[in-house]
Amino acid sequence: MSDQKLQVIPLGGLGEFGMNILALEYGGEILVIDSGMMFPDDELLGVDLVMPDLTFLKENRQKLRALVLTHGHEDHIGAVPYFLSEFDVPVYGTAFTLALVERRLEEHDLGRRPELRTVKPRQVVELGPFRVEFIHVTHSIVSAVALAVTTPLGAVIHTGDFKVDPTPTDNELFDLHTLADYGKRGVLLLLSDSTNADRPGYTESERAVRPRFEEIFSRAEGRILVSCFSSSIHRIEEVLEVAREFRRKVAIIGRSMITATEIAHGLGLLEIPDQILIRPQDVAGTPAKELAVLISGTQGEPMSSLSRVSVDSHRHVTVERGDLVALSSRIIPGNEKGIFRMLDHLERRGADVVYGPMNPPLHVSGHGSMEELRLVLNLVRPRYFIPIHGEYRQLAKHARLAEHLRHVGLKQTFVLESGETLELDREGARKGGRVTVGRVFIDSGSVDDVVGEMVIRDRRHLSEDGIVLPVIAINRHTGRVEQVPEIVSRGFSVGEDGAEFLQGARQVVAQTLESSSPEEKTDWGVMKERVRSDLKRYITKQTSRRPLIVPVILEV
Ligand SMILES: [Zn+2]
Ligand SMILES: [Zn+2]
Repeated sequence: MSDQKLQVIPLGGLGEFGMNILALEYGGEILVIDSGMMFPDDELLGVDLVMPDLTFLKENRQKLRALVLTHGHEDHIGAVPYFLSEFDVPVYGTAFTLALVERRLEEHDLGRRPELRTVKPRQVVELGPFRVEFIHVTHSIVSAVALAVTTPLGAVIHTGDFKVDPTPTDNELFDLHTLADYGKRGVLLLLSDSTNADRPGYTESERAVRPRFEEIFSRAEGRILVSCFSSSIHRIEEVLEVAREFRRKVAIIGRSMITATEIAHGLGLLEIPDQILIRPQDVAGTPAKELAVLISGTQGEPMSSLSRVSVDSHRHVTVERGDLVALSSRIIPGNEKGIFRMLDHLERRGADVVYGPMNPPLHVSGHGSMEELRLVLNLVRPRYFIPIHGEYRQLAKHARLAEHLRHVGLKQTFVLESGETLELDREGARKGGRVTVGRVFIDSGSVDDVVGEMVIRDRRHLSEDGIVLPVIAINRHTGRVEQVPEIVSRGFSVGEDGAEFLQGARQVVAQTLESSSPEEKTDWGVMKERVRSDLKRYITKQTSRRPLIVPVILEV
């Protein structure tokens, strides 16, 4: 036992969807678990990526010991390059997870070789006061692990993402034994995946999709296109096997899918039947009835392979009447528009598009439902419990599922949101102080292109109310205004009274300029701000709209 405190510091993923990252601090050392990103929704115009705010870790830089990864999904590893551009610490994960990280790192120049350390399930790593054991779990990606982190105060179990798949396609069973061992010896704190805490019963096994694929392959007359998440190696393996059964060749299309299958095959995690694969350029020459295509782009991303096929602009693959397209994935909320547009195009080309819930299923979730969550709670029997990985209602539901454990040693459940901390010591556990959390917006996939909240606000203005540019010509030498100010606008229509409105706007700018002192006129920052605020007042009054106003001063 120890006098020190253990602090649990969720920096993302609690009370929000995606961007999972959590820190454990003990004795002046910090262990970080996962470093994921969040996919931007429509609200964040034009932003490509959303990363967690790492301010807390930056302020505690010298304490940082290591980053430990549970599995290779984007919401767990997507921010690793961003993390490593700030912190030079070793990264631990299974071979498949680290291979995906390495692929991501190829697009970023860290200026040094990152320290990636491969671990296997049941392996133990000592990291300062933390003794970390990796425990195999079943999930929709291969090589996922839970973590048992033993500290001087007791054991902390972090499940990562999981479902309890009784018949995993790779026959790698969930290591419930090891989890139960920890439970028997006593677990201080459990952190467990809450994604499906609002779904009764059990999540179906990955194998449950097999009958659906067999049905699809037996009825399809033309080509078969199957799209799934590129990291769904289990799913890809099922499709390859069914294709072999029905004597169809398979082409893998899309960079992310080719990468993931290459990595998994290279690590012995994906079996590819002999001679089944054909090259993308051989798709055109293969008879429709003998061809299946595994293709990326389940979410209707405009540049993805399937989207391009849907508008007939893919280099190698086309879709015609009689072909069948199966979407073996869920529709991530926020992506409906793009996905449905793509499906409409595919139907218009005559394809039979199969998607959505059905029985037998075409897609199954990777996260455990209520009964699986209960099973893990019962095996681990923690003294304290924090539901993680979910929006608030899912965390709250998961907390309720643990209520019965009060009779067998559960002292308290804490429903925390990102930034709220928990501290544990010999006396017990209680909520601690808040730390800085938030979202960092990044354009074009480069960690250098951080976009501020300001820019997002500007873009929102632009999309809703357009832009107005007052253009002012000032004489560089005399400081005099040389011409009547011009007003240029885009996406901001002024209606029938346009000419009158513009005339008024010009006058407002001219008045602002006239009423400014010579000193103000030489300070262009001040001038721009004055023009902007006067013009804003005028436009709001005349039109009750709020376009983005960007004064432009030309030196003449
Ligand atoms: Zn996952
Ligand atoms: Zn996840």
